[in-house]
Amino acid sequence: MSNRDELSSKTKQALAIRAGYTCSFRGCQRPTSGPSEEAPDAVSVTGKAAHIHAAAPGGPRYLASMTPDERRNFSNGIWLCSHHADLIDNDKVTYAADELRAMKREHEDNCKRRHREGVRRGQPVNELIAIGPDIVFCGELIGADQSEWSFHLQDFVDGDLHALLTFIARYDTTPPMDRYVLVSGLGDGRVMSGAPAVKKRQSGRYELTFPVAMGAERIRAIDLAADLALSDKHDLMLTESGDIALVSGVDALPQKIETYLSSQKGESPFHKDFGTRIAEYFRLFAGSPWFEQFLKLEVIRQAAIPYIDPLYSRQYTPLSCIERVFGIELLADAPTNNWLPIRVDLEVKGLGRWQHQLSICVPKEEVKRPSWDELMAGPLRQVSQ
Ligand SMILES: [Zn+2]
Repeated sequence: MSNRDELSSKTKQALAIRAGYTCSFRGCQRPTSGPSEEAPDAVSVTGKAAHIHAAAPGGPRYLASMTPDERRNFSNGIWLCSHHADLIDNDKVTYAADELRAMKREHEDNCKRRHREGVRRGQPVNELIAIGPDIVFCGELIGADQSEWSFHLQDFVDGDLHALLTFIARYDTTPPMDRYVLVSGLGDGRVMSGAPAVKKRQSGRYELTFPVAMGAERIRAIDLAADLALSDKHDLMLTESGDIALVSGVDALPQKIETYLSSQKGESPFHKDFGTRIAEYFRLFAGSPWFEQFLKLEVIRQAAIPYIDPLYSRQYTPLSCIERVFGIELLADAPTNNWLPIRVDLEVKGLGRWQHQLSICVPKEEVKRPSWDELMAGPLRQVSQ
């Protein structure tokens, strides 16, 4: 008997179908099935269900700590064309297990969107891509590695080509916190490490390239610091003995996300750039599919782009344990008493894929906060006297 922990034919078939019988390697999408002339009903399958961690000792990315069942599991396979199946096994440094899992997820997400939205093969699945706070465009991801992300530009949703060229020309004077790129389809974003470059191809299409820094450092959900426990109604909770209750670790995760997503940009006179633009986007896009899309970009920004705290000269990502944003679904068209229910689908460090229903505060009217000068002239002057 072989000592290889092979994937079962049922698992292989599920991998192939979930990948739409196309290669999962980033940017490939080569068809891997078709008719064969050998018989009227003969099929030709050229794809392979590859192991992420090898089936036997000595193989690529073999992990001795896995059980045979784990090695044979669907989660340990990826559907690839034969060229890319060989490529990943000949270079286990570039194609580490995490990288392969990321490709599998991206490809399955694309297949899901094509399937759900009826996008034909060959037609690009457009991503929504944000460059800093004022430019959002539809485009197609053509490459994403550790130091560079690149796209084909299709249409601007916010801003225009002039705004993009201005962003590039003034990159050096752009506030560091606005030098970011967010990609809806990847569920991830990066701080830029240099000005983007734009090229016009002979086809007339624009190609954009971003040098990117390493992804933000994430912490494990179980390491989340203690926080005051809040009830479903967002009130403080008490313990049985009447003390104020605390939560920490994974238990603190839902309310951490709610709190950060409910902080509106401009609310704090000390931290003008802190918080999200969700309420602003709601006022602009409520009732259209764009709201959900912009909401997702804001969650990605809070998870992937560090906030630079000017008071303590430190930086941190508000949603510090979220590694990827798969989806944000609205559960109501409008907030009730300013609370909007959503379902989040996230990759959480140390926890894996995590789905949860939450409520975020989306005030209907713009909240007018006093400026620093107004505070000093009013309530703070009385305090300081
Ligand atoms: Zn391929």
